Amino acid sequence: MVTPGGVLDGVVTIEGERIAAVGPRAEHRGPEPIDLGELWLLPGLVDGHVHLNEPGRTEWEGFVTATRAAAVGGVTTLVDMPLNCIPVTTSVAALEAKLAACRGELSVDCGFWGGVVPGNAAELGPLVRAGVLGAKAFLCHSGIDDFPDTPEADLRPAMRALAEAGAPLLAHAELEQPVDAEALEGLSPGGYERWLRSRPAAWEDAAIALLIALCRETGCAVHIVHLSSASALPLLAAARAEGLPVTVETCPHYLCLSAEQVPPGDTTWKCAPPIRGADNRDALWQGLRDGVIDQVVSDHSPCTPALKHLERGDFDAAWGGIASLQLGLRAVWTEARGRGFALSDVVRWMAEAPARIAGLAARKGGIAVGMDADLVAFDPDARARVDGGKLLHRHKITPYQGAELWGEVRCTWLRGAVVQEGGVPVGEPRGRTLLGRMDR
Ligand SMILES: [Zn+2]
Repeated sequence: MVTPGGVLDGVVTIEGERIAAVGPRAEHRGPEPIDLGELWLLPGLVDGHVHLNEPGRTEWEGFVTATRAAAVGGVTTLVDMPLNCIPVTTSVAALEAKLAACRGELSVDCGFWGGVVPGNAAELGPLVRAGVLGAKAFLCHSGIDDFPDTPEADLRPAMRALAEAGAPLLAHAELEQPVDAEALEGLSPGGYERWLRSRPAAWEDAAIALLIALCRETGCAVHIVHLSSASALPLLAAARAEGLPVTVETCPHYLCLSAEQVPPGDTTWKCAPPIRGADNRDALWQGLRDGVIDQVVSDHSPCTPALKHLERGDFDAAWGGIASLQLGLRAVWTEARGRGFALSDVVRWMAEAPARIAGLAARKGGIAVGMDADLVAFDPDARARVDGGKLLHRHKITPYQGAELWGEVRCTWLRGAVVQEGGVPVGEPRGRTLLGRMDR
């Protein structure tokens, strides 16, 4: 098993919903434990970046489908993003609508991020007190008209309010810069290369520079979501060296896929910021190795297949978002093992860090006494091809279709009870909402 203290050949004792003891196998006294043989026991993963889209866009995804897929993928805690649902989670009333919508539907535990939009700084303190774990802003158009981007002048009061409430600002860090028309010349409209060059790394780098400056000015903790541009890593490393409260995530698709691999016209690969070249991908792995990137979370952001405009293969028209909630652990493990990382590294990126950043580390993200008994039995040496049709996401389209991935999630426990076995969700939905940071 992977514990915060290292890898252990041991026994976990569960009492009720919590872990009561963790120790070496030889020292175990008491009833005969379940023997997992050669399987590894991991803490249930914490995915801090998921668009559940409910209420309002349940035809894109929903609490029932997403949380079942999460359980099968080894994820026992989700944190929902404040947009793509209707209403967007920018007020206490909207949070209440979300809480009402998810009642009885969760197969895993679920927390919520609030939303920062221009003019709602006064809502942020009440939202945090009502239970959101932090609040997210966009520095560019979000793709959803009722979640507008927040200019610097509005970010400042929002960040002061969040700092006072003891919660972080999460930021979609792309700040529009003039794009060199020459760079786009001759590229076919709607093609991937044009999409990629129209969202250059410079947009991310500019946004991150601004966010670091505002972090320094306001004292608000800043979390950069879905970092794609590796060229921002030196800026982020310098901010950390300065002692600023800046944390960073990237996603499986930026680590496991590259622009060179995008099949012509296959808009299932579209997301923003875009998947960049293989050299950039290698540099992101170095960012993980150096500890500048804290966590790896899915940014599971599905839509209906029609909105992907697959038949036209038009990257400009397609909705940007990649659904990978059920596949993240296997995809990241496949790439990580090939690069010489251990399962304990994957646990640090996909369970420990996301629990800490969401303020849930007192109960989630580790196999230790007093924590929730959220556990995953994982076979790191199993290998299988992805069959998108079998995913439990509401929609089955995925850029991982046909990919051969290492790892099989055999069994998942949520607070001591089996919720998934052999790829099949088990029992009634017993997930709970997680309201309020435990580190405030
Ligand atoms: Zn997202």
